[in-house]
Amino acid sequence: MSYSVVQLAQWSNARLIGVSDQTVEKIVYDSRKPFTPDHTLFVAINSSTNNGHAFIPELYEKGMRIFIVEVKAAIDYQLYPEASFIECSNSVDCLQLIAGRIRQSFSAPFIGITGSNGKTIIKEWLTRILESTSKVGRSPRSFNSQIGVPLSVWLLSEDINYAIIEAGISMPGEMDKIADCIRPDYGILTNIGQAHQENFQTIEQKLDEKLKLFDSAHTIFYNGDDALVSKAIKNKFPRKKLVSAGVNSTNDLQVKQSVLSHGKMKLSLLWQEQSFVLELPFQDAISVENSLLVALCALHLGITIEVLQKEMLRLSPIAMRLEQKEAINNCLLIDDGYSADLTSLELALDFLNQMGAKRGLSKTLILSDIQQSGMNAALLFKKVQKLAHEKGISKLIGIGHELYSAMGGVNAYQNTDEFLQKADISSFKDEAILLKGARHFAFERISAMLEQRRHKTVLEINLNALAENVKYFRSLLKKETKLLAMVKAFSYGTGSFEIANLLALQKVDYLGVAFADEGIELRKAGINLPIIVMNPELSSFPLMLEYELEPEIYSFEVLDAFLSAVQRQGVSQVPIHIKVDTGMNRLGFIPDDVDELIRQIKKYSSVYVSSVFSHLAGSDEAIHDGYTQLQVERFSVCCDQLEDGLGYSFIRHILNSAGIERFPEAQMDMVRLGIGMYGVSAIGNQHLQQVNTLNSYVSQLKKIKAGETVGYSRKGQSEKDMQIAVIPIGYADGYNRRLSNGVGHVIINGKEARVVGNICMDMCMVDVTELNIKTGDKVEIFGSQLCINDLARCLETIPYEILTSISRRVKRVYVME
Ligand SMILES: *Cc1c(COP(=O)(O)O)cnc(C)c1O
Repeated sequence: MSYSVVQLAQWSNARLIGVSDQTVEKIVYDSRKPFTPDHTLFVAINSSTNNGHAFIPELYEKGMRIFIVEVKAAIDYQLYPEASFIECSNSVDCLQLIAGRIRQSFSAPFIGITGSNGKTIIKEWLTRILESTSKVGRSPRSFNSQIGVPLSVWLLSEDINYAIIEAGISMPGEMDKIADCIRPDYGILTNIGQAHQENFQTIEQKLDEKLKLFDSAHTIFYNGDDALVSKAIKNKFPRKKLVSAGVNSTNDLQVKQSVLSHGKMKLSLLWQEQSFVLELPFQDAISVENSLLVALCALHLGITIEVLQKEMLRLSPIAMRLEQKEAINNCLLIDDGYSADLTSLELALDFLNQMGAKRGLSKTLILSDIQQSGMNAALLFKKVQKLAHEKGISKLIGIGHELYSAMGGVNAYQNTDEFLQKADISSFKDEAILLKGARHFAFERISAMLEQRRHKTVLEINLNALAENVKYFRSLLKKETKLLAMVKAFSYGTGSFEIANLLALQKVDYLGVAFADEGIELRKAGINLPIIVMNPELSSFPLMLEYELEPEIYSFEVLDAFLSAVQRQGVSQVPIHIKVDTGMNRLGFIPDDVDELIRQIKKYSSVYVSSVFSHLAGSDEAIHDGYTQLQVERFSVCCDQLEDGLGYSFIRHILNSAGIERFPEAQMDMVRLGIGMYGVSAIGNQHLQQVNTLNSYVSQLKKIKAGETVGYSRKGQSEKDMQIAVIPIGYADGYNRRLSNGVGHVIINGKEARVVGNICMDMCMVDVTELNIKTGDKVEIFGSQLCINDLARCLETIPYEILTSISRRVKRVYVME
């Protein structure tokens, strides 16, 4: 669309200075981005970091002729005889006023989305679904700011059936302005969390500010399970149509049941007295919550259940950020395989220019057919060509029937398969490549070919094996015995909520962590299981109460501190877990403390003893079995005494993993499972499945002459000519330096390769003289071919230490069949 400068000045109550017969098609506000000056308006924005007015001379020089400027910049208009200036008091306000007027020219309904998280995802997913029947315009990427919103409105094309616009705010007072640009007919509230809370006094205040977006709306969609949100919406908008989704039976779209299987979530839903099942291609709680709002809005807007079922299954988690990757032959790859439309193409091209310019690379665009443009193919291709030319693309490759015919088959392919078969991938060299394709072209296959083989060290965690191990340990226990799963120390190095989630699905009764921080992280990730903190710091008690984390109480000092925290917060019925020391001589009350302990606990009604436990010092070794028996007996005596004194019973537990395997008769009411579920058995048990594999790759091969040395301190002297492989794992990754100089080995192609020289911080070298290998080959550091127990033996340590030493920089990859 195009607008005259006179019209724009009128709409924004601004003064027009200079030439009055120009028209505007495009808006830019970042002077660094490439542009074509014809019919382009530059908005000079004065922000805390930059003043756009300073670029006017340079832009005028380059041919830019239309500007929005602020009075206080005091531009000398005489210097720019061919330009039009729209002069206002604030450029951003001016842009918003213009957008507000443009908004009024649309008869199609507008859907406004706000909330703390999920705005962009919901907008993208809803677009995908509504596009099955309608033409949808939407804000590009996450254009939801004071500038992003008016630009989004500006970019909408005339012939849409719906506009979906997201709005984000970070301060009070901001919503009124952008609400006027959107004036939504329908509103979606995603959720309300802590984001941008720093500028608001309370969460209610922030919610209230966000809800201002919906003043114009007749219908509002929201999560009806969120009490805070429900109440605020009902109070504020008693006369609007309020439509909600959630588990509670009062919701319009009600979740009757949710079942997880094979990585998919199956929701049994009830909508207008119809029951149906909706399958979602993901399982995390946040994606499920977002999908539910999308489904709610789509159903309300008349999408049929059948279409919804089909389309929802095709949704994919959206990588909203353009990702930049290193590619073959010094190429740079910008991967954008989610959508192909002109607006997002332009944004991606800008990003390509930003990234590629730094290294002076030539620019290539690999583009799929563009969907849903409503334009004929030839005209569309002209636009693409023009855009590509403007943005400095020197090579354009088209994929898809439409581009193929528009390009006369030159540099074009009918589909992705044909490209993969016929194109010479190795001919890409010193290029910045933008891969831009609609979802179903599956451009990730192209990106996999172009991407440089990454030499990554990865800890692979097999979640199925972990689940099987939990089941195995369960099989050793009575049905009624409870299970506490230990997830301390980043779940023994394997992960945080990823593991806790799985354990929740396995229906363990409790989780155990070492410190409050670990528990808070799990709560924030949505884990609802009871969590016991084994080693609570006194200062963490208020937070622990807030996040409902249950403390291990191991001394009178800790008990006192906890009781005063409880009293200060005025809570009651708070569970505590008493640790007694029966012979480990670590934390815990000793049996002599028990009488005094009973007195203290009985004084306060605000806490109750939920469980009493002790820890075995030598449950994995037969020579200590007598001592183990003694510990169990002492424990039972203490528990009986406590129970008598307190006058109620509690959960008793003493067994860890090795204890479960070796002393099932002492299982009592609960056991605490740790290392065993991570696949390590104290007794060489063959039933356990291997969970963890640490893999790396050969990054370089090198020939060494007899007498030469390898690595620091010139330790690895070779007696013969040899070939070594460099592997990108070092002691900073947790590959222990004591494995240097032949102590340790790795497995490559099924064969052993000894460590040569000293292990470095980020890499190590191994002898591969006798092996027939090439760079890129996989290297197993430990796993099914090199058992973690053997590695531990080499280092005279235990598998616990090896697992928990793998540093956080090593990527964890979770596999699930
Ligand atoms: C770590 C821990 C466990 C689990 O021990 P594993 O040997 O890994 O099974 C059990 N109880 C307590 C108190 C722990 O600290």
